Parts: sequence; structure tokens; C-alpha cells
Amino acid sequence: MTDYQPAQIEPKWQKFWEDKKLHQTPDKSDKPKYYDLVMFPYPSGKIHMGHVRNYAIGDVIARYKKMRGFNVLHPIGWDAFGMPAENAAIQHQTHPAAWTEKCIQNMTKQLKRLGLSYDWTRQVTTCQEDYYKWTQWLFLKFLEKGLAYRRQAKVNWCSNCQTVLANEQVIKDHQCWRCDTKVEEKALEQWFLRITDYAEKLLLDIEKLEGWPEPVKIMQRHWIGTSVRVG
Ligand SMILES: [Zn+2]
Repeated sequence: MTDYQPAQIEPKWQKFWEDKKLHQTPDKSDKPKYYDLVMFPYPSGKIHMGHVRNYAIGDVIARYKKMRGFNVLHPIGWDAFGMPAENAAIQHQTHPAAWTEKCIQNMTKQLKRLGLSYDWTRQVTTCQEDYYKWTQWLFLKFLEKGLAYRRQAKVNWCSNCQTVLANEQVIKDHQCWRCDTKVEEKALEQWFLRITDYAEKLLLDIEKLEGWPEPVKIMQRHWIGTSVRVG
């Protein structure tokens, strides 16, 4: 038996799949639907083994369901907005948009080489207008309903990253998870969403989650509880 030769075998079949549009999901189909959503990567520039582990699992599920006769929607996109892009751009002395675009191109090439069965025609990029027009639309709906409001509040601030950190991003001895700088408290005018109005409903509905491990449910309860106290 000859050894597996990935450099020959994989490009051959990846091209075959692409030519046959095998991973494109039709809008209409008689098959039962299956939605297989993986977490969109942040375009930092390189795919690492953590991505590979995560996306291989999603891909196994997509392929299994496809073989079982489902019309599988397995999309991919880029969680591409925010301060990290701006900081990286400063570091590389370029524009955040140019830097992000370059990272996306490189990571797309890497994901394609892994042979993952995404429908690339449905790719979304959160820093592009065709995507963020919907987050803006959603925000205006919150505003109209009085669920978005402004006030001063103390935040976790990293003076090195020049960014606000979520509580989960403050680690060890009150340090930034990215750069270990001591996190300061800073009062900033900011937008809030009145999710606390829904805390009771969220807590009650956790009971309806079937098949969720108890520790995860407990974490959810704690998270909602904490939000109620702070908000
Ligand atoms: Zn930092």
C-alpha cells in the first residue's frame, strides 16, 4: 500500500468538489433542512490548530448530515469588527480595512486547503456594509423600543490596547487577557441594551434546554444573575 499523498490527493478532490458546486446549498430543496453553524473566526491573519480542531468537528457533522440526505447549510464568515483590528493596523502601519482584507484572503486560502465543506457563496464579513447595515437596523429597533440607552458607567480599560474589556477578559491579577497590562477602571459614556428586562424569562427558559450539561446551565444562570445585579 502506498502512503497517503495529501499534496496530490487533496487538491484533486477539492477542485472536483468546487467544480461540481458540491457544497453550495440551494435555497429550495425537498430534503429536510439542517443548519450547521460554527463560530466565525476573527481574521487575525493565520488559522491555528484551535481553529482546525473546531472546524473539523463542524465539517464532520455537515458531511454526515449530507450523506444522510439533509439539505445542509454550513456557512462561514468573519467576525471582523473592533479594536483588535485597529491595534493590529497601527502595529503593521497600515489601514484597518486593508489589514483585515489581507488577513481574510490568507485565512480563506488556509480554510480551503483544509477541504472544509463551506458554502463560500454565502460568506459574511461583519465589517462590510452588506452585513453591518443589519446590525445598525437591529440597533435602531432596540432604540425605538426604548431598549437601547446611554449612560456613564465604569468599565475595565486596558491602556495598552486602548480598549474596553469584558469581565471575562480580565484575568489573573486584574490583567488584560491580551497583553497582561494592569486593567484600570474608567468612567465612560456608553450604550447599553436593557437585557435585564428579559432576565426572568431567560432564567425560566434555561429549564427548557434539553440535553444541555448541568454545569453549562449553572454558568448561564450565574451569568444572567450577575447581569441583573450590575445592570
Ligand atoms: Zn491589553
